[in-house]
Amino acid sequence: APTIGVLALQGDVREHVRALRESGARPVAVRRPAELEAVDALVIPGGESTTMWKLADAFDLLEPLRLRVKSGMPAYGSCAGMIMLADRIEGGTDDQQTLGGIDMVVRRNAFGRQVDSFESTLDFAGRGAMRAVFIRAPWVESVGSGVEVLGLAEPGDRIVAVRQGPLLATSFHPELTGDTRVHSYFVEMVREH
Ligand code: GLN
Repeated sequence: APTIGVLALQGDVREHVRALRESGARPVAVRRPAELEAVDALVIPGGESTTMWKLADAFDLLEPLRLRVKSGMPAYGSCAGMIMLADRIEGGTDDQQTLGGIDMVVRRNAFGRQVDSFESTLDFAGRGAMRAVFIRAPWVESVGSGVEVLGLAEPGDRIVAVRQGPLLATSFHPELTGDTRVHSYFVEMVREH
């Protein structure tokens, strides 16, 4: 089974660990550069992207993370994790940095202006209807030509799931619903890599 790290600086780590295990991977928590080096792939959980970026910097993980993403490590970011994987963000703090990797503009707290948290049903990657939980979620404002759109959500048919090569991102939290299809899709990506 592939060893998949879950970035464990902040956010809902345990739920991702459980979903990965149920999807046939060997999950491990990643807090230090040496732990990052040992994984085949990485999940970046939901939480608060400004805090996650500052902690990654404080734990000397920011540059190692950027390097591994740049060198092709598969990664999946959920919500704040999606923000971390965006090449460009809107609605961030002035100095907020991301890891980048996916050629997209992500708008922070985008749905949240209308409603803080909500559920929607969407079709993820053509795999049928899926319940999706959004919590102060971002949406994808625009994508480059190399980015595949894997899911749209009401209200507004916003882009909420994307893939570019070995990088996957969702605005919603599949780790909270007990539906392992997104994690299984990622584990498949890692196996094919
Ligand atoms: N609003 C958060 C951020 O900007 C993301 C919310 C989440 O991950 N549930 O980082």
